[in-house]
Amino acid sequence: MIETLVKSIFIDGKWQTAESDQTETVYNPATMDAIADVSYGGKAETKKAIDAAHKAFSSWSDLTGRERSKILYKAHEIMLEETDRLAKILTTEQGKPLKEAAGEIKSAASFLLWYAEEASRSYGEWLPSSIKSKRMLVIPQPVGVVGAITPWNFPASMITRKIAPALAAGCTVVLKPAPETPLSAIEIIKILERAGLPNGVVNLVTGDAEAIGTTLLTSKNVRLITFTGSTKVGKYLMRESANHVKKLSLELGGHAPIIVFDDADLEKAAAMSLASKFRNNGQTCICANRLYVHESVQEKFTKLLIEKVRELKVGYGLDADTDLGPLINQQASQKVQTHLDDAVEKGARIVYGGKRLNGDLNGYFYHPTVLSEITDDMLVMNEETFGPVIPIQPFSDEDSVINKANDTDYGLAAYIFTENTSRAIRVSEKLEYGIVGVNDVFPAVAEAPFGGIKQSGIGKEGGHYGMHEFLEMKFVSMGI
Ligand code: ADP
Repeated sequence: MIETLVKSIFIDGKWQTAESDQTETVYNPATMDAIADVSYGGKAETKKAIDAAHKAFSSWSDLTGRERSKILYKAHEIMLEETDRLAKILTTEQGKPLKEAAGEIKSAASFLLWYAEEASRSYGEWLPSSIKSKRMLVIPQPVGVVGAITPWNFPASMITRKIAPALAAGCTVVLKPAPETPLSAIEIIKILERAGLPNGVVNLVTGDAEAIGTTLLTSKNVRLITFTGSTKVGKYLMRESANHVKKLSLELGGHAPIIVFDDADLEKAAAMSLASKFRNNGQTCICANRLYVHESVQEKFTKLLIEKVRELKVGYGLDADTDLGPLINQQASQKVQTHLDDAVEKGARIVYGGKRLNGDLNGYFYHPTVLSEITDDMLVMNEETFGPVIPIQPFSDEDSVINKANDTDYGLAAYIFTENTSRAIRVSEKLEYGIVGVNDVFPAVAEAPFGGIKQSGIGKEGGHYGMHEFLEMKFVSMGI
């Protein structure tokens, strides 16, 4: 146990337990040890949190952007100073290797910095009027109270990506983190507290997802739901938001293809495919799900890839030389197994890995796995595996591989490897995805828009686009 934390609910500047005194245990997925007990809140706590956020809205939105900016900037500084401590907490509750956790904390801090800078740049417009006796203004205003619901795969950066632009825009927030990873959320709120955030501006409710969700959805004071998670829950939130016609920003599932053309730098393509697939053990919504490799280079590419996969060390995230940690839970491990069994049953060949890792490790560990002889009807080619499995399929021409890459309900991220600039542009334009990486698999940065199309979501996080989600454009029409 790191600590027994029962006061994990933060409302109007006060840490508190659930009214029912109920708690929920957080486990380390690498060791299965219980690491903390957090408060299990529900309707009553969420209602109070919404009231606090609603009350704080007028004074927070009244501040100048520069004043809000100072708090975000301070929070960014504290977060960077405490990277090592925060990374350890993140790895302990989530499992990812410590170096990845430290990278995530730095990325989370970069969103605080970017939106600290952006807070004083939410520009309006003066429209040239078609009527001489009128003047027309467009003024950006914060949408109001925001309900933010975040997942366990990036327990820190998914929070700052939402909270930082919301606060910069002048919104107030009720945050519900994933039950698997509330400790990182608690730390982020403590940092904002230390940075001087006024009471009620950000509130945290841990506990019953359904009860918290329903309370956010049914409150007319919550004007926007910003969510990262599964497409299934995203669709539910969308349906239920209809009653109050709430704004929505949804970052949902993906099924990213990587296309390796015959003119690619194969060494780079293999290294980056590996980095994309095995980052966070495949538990990333933009990580590669399927690889299409040109038939003329498939053998060479697969050989290069296997050489690199062999070098990956699976283990406890807290051990310095670990490349792959555990999967988050039993359900995740079972899903990987189901996808593998389905692929093998339909004729796939296991080129490397292919089984759970036993031995000394207690948690949900899985061998990094590479599959060939892949057919389009396999689960791995259609659903998010969210685990360390790479299916490789050959292709012969550009048009057919683009069709295959686009043949999915998802549209979050796609990647291509080519040294031909014309092809890079041509294919990027044709891929039906919100994000395309050309010889690059790390497109999530604070200054750029991140978001999917089709069933991968609505709206953008990051860059000045990310601010727009939290602003309404009010039109003021003036007769003079
Ligand atoms: P995953 O399967 O990756 O855990 P989910 O979409 O289930 O993805 O979870 C993402 C976030 O959504 C988590 O914080 C989870 O607790 C929350 N969540 C799940 N179901 C609901 C719900 N009915 N209402 C509100 N939030 C929910």
